[in-house]
Parts: sequence; C-alpha cells; structure tokens
Amino acid sequence: MSEKTPKLRAALDGIPTYKPGRPAAADGPVSYKLSSNENPYPPLPGVLESAVAAAGSFNRYPDMACTGLMAELAEHFSVPVEHLATGTGSVGVAQQLIQATAGPGDEVMYAWRSFEAYPIITQVSGATSVQVPLTSDEVHDLDAMLAAITDRTRLIFVCNPNNPTGTVVRRAELESFLDRVPSDVLVVLDEAYREFNRDAEVPDGIDLYRDRPNVCVLRTFSKAYGLAGLRIGFAVAHEPVAAALRKTAVPFGVSQLAQEAAVASLRSEAALMERVDALVVERARVLGALAGQGWTLPESHANFVWLRLGDRAADFAAACERAGVVVRPFAGEGVRVTIGESAAMDLFLEAAEEFRKTY
Ligand SMILES: *Cc1c(COP(=O)(O)O)cnc(C)c1O
Repeated sequence: MSEKTPKLRAALDGIPTYKPGRPAAADGPVSYKLSSNENPYPPLPGVLESAVAAAGSFNRYPDMACTGLMAELAEHFSVPVEHLATGTGSVGVAQQLIQATAGPGDEVMYAWRSFEAYPIITQVSGATSVQVPLTSDEVHDLDAMLAAITDRTRLIFVCNPNNPTGTVVRRAELESFLDRVPSDVLVVLDEAYREFNRDAEVPDGIDLYRDRPNVCVLRTFSKAYGLAGLRIGFAVAHEPVAAALRKTAVPFGVSQLAQEAAVASLRSEAALMERVDALVVERARVLGALAGQGWTLPESHANFVWLRLGDRAADFAAACERAGVVVRPFAGEGVRVTIGESAAMDLFLEAAEEFRKTY
C-alpha cells in the first residue's frame, strides 16, 4: 500500500473557502438572517406553482438548452437568443467566464473589497488575481484599474452595485473606462443587484454591451427575483463569448424547476418589483436611521448596507446576533447587513444604536 495521496493541483493551496452568510438560529429567541442578501419574501404564488409542477418530472434531465427561458429572456431584454447563456447561479456563469478566458499565467482583475467569489474562482482556474483597492469613498477606482491592465489581463469584473459596499459606478465614468480597456480584454459587468438601483445615472449594462463585443453582463434570479435556492443566473454577451459560455457549462446544470420558476418570475415581474420597491423604501429608512445615530456610511444602491467598522466588525456582528439578527462580518474590515423584514431591521437598528454608544 502506498502512502501517497492523490496529486492535487498546487493552484488549490490556500484558496479561501467561500463563507456563506450564517443562518438564523433555529432555536432560542426570534432570529433573522440578514447575512446573504437574500430576498426576505417567500416565492410568489404563480412562481411556486410553476416550480411545483416542474417537480413532477424530476426523474428526467432538464432541457439543457433552457429553450423556453432563453426565448423569454431574449424577448424581455431585446437581445438575440445567441447572446444569452445560463448557468447555476451567476456565480456559476462567472466561473464559466473565467474558464473560458484565463488559466495559469493570466490575470483576472477586480476591485477589492468586492464579491468574495471572485478570488476563489480565479484561483481555482490557476490564473492570478489582481485586486485594485476601492477609493476612500468605497467606489471602484476605474483609473487605477486601467493602469493595472497588462498584456496578461484577460478578464475584469466590475460589480455594479458593488457587493459588499452598495456603491455604484455611473454612466460617464463607466463608458470612459470601457472606451479605454483593450478590445481583447473581457469586461464583466456583474449586475446581481441591478433591480435595487434607483439612480438614473447608473447605466444598464445591457445598453452598454450592445455595441461592445468585449462586454459581458451577468444577471441573477437569486436576489430581487427571490430564487436563490434554485441556482440560476445568466449572461448577455456577443459571440464568441456567449458560445464559449455554452461550452464551459456543466451539462444539465440548470434544473427544470429553476427554468420554470425563472420564466414565471419574468412573467410576474410587476408583482416582484413591488416587493423590490418595498425593500428600497426600507433601505432608505435604515440608511436614514443609521445616519441619525451618527454612523457614516456609503449610500447603498443594493439590498444591503455597509458599515466600515475595521477592528470592531466582529464585535458589532456579535452584538447584532445577541439582538436577534445575523449579519455578515468581514473581519477587520466591516459588516454587511441585508435589508430584510421591517421587524428585523428594527432589531438591527436598536443593536446599532446601542453599539454606537460604545464608540
Ligand atoms: C449574490 C451575488 C451573485 C449571484 O449569485 P448566484 O450565484 O446567482 O446566486 C453574483 N454576484 C454578486 C456580486 C453577488 O453578490
């Protein structure tokens, strides 16, 4: 018997594991999960029924081409079907994008701090992460990102609005950035929180991609649409990028339940967007209350707020948890708090006010 273990790729050494937002406590006093930017509302009736109906045939593989959904998306966003690709959540699609563009010796660039999946999926591919710090206002530093482009840069993520800061890049600056990125570098506009934006100066990536073959837009059904557990997201990009995404997809990755629920969600958009509007109103209330307590924080355009607490992030998160809300600390940096039910936000605001007194 040999004592050798299977040879694993050295690129995997030291990969940070994805930390999911902690769940709410199952026992004890009421506890709300505000740690994963999920939609707090249960599925809409029509959406649930479509998924349940699809469940009746899960002895079969799903439609691998997602035909019905692709047609619906093409119509909804006025894009050719050939410019669409789906995946197991937009994280799945992001991973397919990296697989399609980068490997050892190549560079993948993104702002930092931004979405914590970026460093993980980059490192898995063997490519090198280039992290460009956010400005002191917690916004993407697009000039610094341009300056960091090398002839090894293959893909650049621009997360807009940015997770976890909620900040945005606006049309003029983003267009000027896209005009200057070399046309053989893929720019991925990750718009997971697009539906929560209310700033008219924040461009819709789907407008920007149309005459830019090196721009790819990522969208998800996980946040505003409330289908996080079904794992479905999509990309809009020109050929050959969209075609490459279809090649790198896990066969049958997107379940029929997810496909049917996504179609039903697009058809129930008005009802879903009412819920999004309610969360946007709640966001304004929370931001106003926190400012009133004396906190300084960036204006959020997403379904969460960001408090840069530095060394006190873990203490703050623990205080929130004692008050009945589970938030998402990034040790030594800050805390991200999802906008959820009003009752949850009241508990959070009380905890924040108490904590503020210890400053
Ligand atoms: C939540 C999130 C996603 C979407 O994740 P899914 O895989 O679609 O559930 C993508 N990008 C960012 C920045 C996110 O925060």
